[in-house]
Amino acid sequence: MSVSASAPAGIAPVEKRVAAIEAALGERGFAAAEVADLAHKATEEWLPRNGARVIAHAWSDPAFRARLLANGRAAVMELGLTMPPHHRHLVVLENTPRVHNVICCTLCSCTAYTIIGLPPDWYKDLEYRARVVRQSRTVLREMGLDLPPEVEIRVWDTTADTRYMVLPEQPEHSIGWPEEKLAGLVTRDGMIGVARL
Ligand code: FE
Repeated sequence: MSVSASAPAGIAPVEKRVAAIEAALGERGFAAAEVADLAHKATEEWLPRNGARVIAHAWSDPAFRARLLANGRAAVMELGLTMPPHHRHLVVLENTPRVHNVICCTLCSCTAYTIIGLPPDWYKDLEYRARVVRQSRTVLREMGLDLPPEVEIRVWDTTADTRYMVLPEQPEHSIGWPEEKLAGLVTRDGMIGVARL
């Protein structure tokens, strides 16, 4: 999937759409500084490295892992991470040798973006949203993750107030590594569930 520079017929070019959004924000009282602040957060703060820290800590500290699985939102806050108030629940899904979890948002593009980062383009694509639910094994295989038939795949559909994060299995060879090095293994795709680490 690729993003085309030229808009399809009937859709305004991206510059016009950006100008329209800026005008609408201005009409609603959003100052340019607030927009710039959001842009800064989106590019500098809401990054998958946040979730990678969480996963690495969970692999290293069984008590934290238990708290993370029991109440994800409270557990990530222990690490100084924040979630917007409307992300009322962070449900952390533990992969095991027999169960593989994958997340989507069939309605639009919701993720726990302050923790795992903003969604990639393919996550917002209608094709992924529709097919991962009905043909999850095939879609994962097409994305490079060929799971053995005995592994059960569970697909989780995000809602406005319930966000998900996959807790991948720790690679065998990384047992005993320091957390910082472990965090370097964790990818956004791993936390969405379309890749294994
Ligand atoms: Fe959504």
